[in-house]
Amino acid sequence: MPEGHTIHRLAQDCAERFLHAPVRVSSPQGKFADGAALVDGAGMTSAEAHGKHLFLGFPGFAGSPGPGAPADPGNTAWVHVHLGLFGKVAFGSAPPPWPADTVRLRLAGPTAFMDLRGPTTCALITPGEKQAIHDRLGPDPLRADADPDAAWRRISRSRTTVAALLMDQKVVAGVGNVYRAEVLFRHGVDPYLPGRALTRAQWDAIWADLVELMREGVRNNRIDTVRPEHEPEAMGRPPRVDDHGGEVYVYRRTGQACHVCGLAVRTAELAARNLFWCPGCQPANVPGA
Ligand SMILES: [Zn+2]
Repeated sequence: MPEGHTIHRLAQDCAERFLHAPVRVSSPQGKFADGAALVDGAGMTSAEAHGKHLFLGFPGFAGSPGPGAPADPGNTAWVHVHLGLFGKVAFGSAPPPWPADTVRLRLAGPTAFMDLRGPTTCALITPGEKQAIHDRLGPDPLRADADPDAAWRRISRSRTTVAALLMDQKVVAGVGNVYRAEVLFRHGVDPYLPGRALTRAQWDAIWADLVELMREGVRNNRIDTVRPEHEPEAMGRPPRVDDHGGEVYVYRRTGQACHVCGLAVRTAELAARNLFWCPGCQPANVPGA
């Protein structure tokens, strides 16, 4: 499952390639053929992400506003994409090759094309339906309109562990297993601490850190979370070898020495996902410490 920075990066990549250019929209696989036909040939008016949801805007169902006309956000047809576990996106230069029949959605612009395969969701939705999706998602650290207070109201009332709350898309949108593990490590927070035992100051620091780390994730298209003093060169250690790339403190480092205290990193299953933490740097039973 990609983390939110991947989807924001995808929105940026779509905007760079297709915004305001005539885009041929098709569904070689056929499952999205009706939706594709309604927006085919129009200029894409916007591309944005909220958590793990991608939204591509096209002139509304009533037709194109015409060249140079301002886009009417109330009359936008949105292509809503959720990659789920198996969705994959590939970009290439125009002209595109003959598509494989596994391609759910193809966008083809003057200079580039994009193929989407295997998403959980690829559907054409109205502005109202899009708003309903925003309304059920928590604030996304990568969105300018995010309200961290909305997440705090839920966290500060909850007996659920802070590790589970961070992964709950209704509480915070876009945080996945890597950022969850790493941000709790960076703030010395026990992953099993109940949400309501977290202090406001801790939450503010965690949120600010998520904003910064995830922005860097979008820029570099990978997750790096170690501070300069813990980078391989600074510590004289070999770089991490992992297909996820990036330098991290605890994610998938079970049994290896913590870069800060030297204790072995631990793992456990929580809500069907592996949790990683350092028992030295994230001690239990110190709520608000
Ligand atoms: Zn440690």
